[in-house]
Amino acid sequence: MKSPPLFTALLEALEQLPGIGKKSAERIGFYLLNNREVGENLSQALRTALDNLGHCRICGNITEGEVCKICSSPSRDKTVICVVETPMDIYAIEKTGIYNGLYHVLGALISPLDGKGPEDINIDGLLKRIEGVKEIILAIKPSTEGDATSMYLAEILKKKGVSVSRLARGLPVGSELELTDPLTIINAIKNRSRL
Ligand SMILES: [Zn+2]
Repeated sequence: MKSPPLFTALLEALEQLPGIGKKSAERIGFYLLNNREVGENLSQALRTALDNLGHCRICGNITEGEVCKICSSPSRDKTVICVVETPMDIYAIEKTGIYNGLYHVLGALISPLDGKGPEDINIDGLLKRIEGVKEIILAIKPSTEGDATSMYLAEILKKKGVSVSRLARGLPVGSELELTDPLTIINAIKNRSRL
């Protein structure tokens, strides 16, 4: 039996989501059509989010206005910047409540195998922000790409005279920051080492 083309299109769209395979896409697709209110809510929330949320022009965090709440907060320590791969990492660190500095989102990591070099990640934006900054904490996941990116950044930043540190080992290799439990992140920040 062939499913209606519109349903196939919905399943194909769902399959683009991270962690959603064919089977999950089918389950969600049927569910949304059978529970129309859930479907409507989802559709509306997504539309509104896409229309109104963007990236902070300073740090790259998700924000409703031009500048995010963290960058515009007077109570944040502006002498420390924590460098992360994605806005999701910011959420993971913010949940711990241990960090009160600013952030910078790279957007990607250096990965020669995927053809991603230093020019493909937001380093220029970071370099423009280092005036008056005392410490830059590299909170990038331990992996081949993460290590390459950290080493590259440490090199340039040290040349600019900024103190660079890195989250303590203890984060499992290859682990995503956003999936790491808060206590492990707290320890990794507390025991960060200078590069
Ligand atoms: Zn920001």
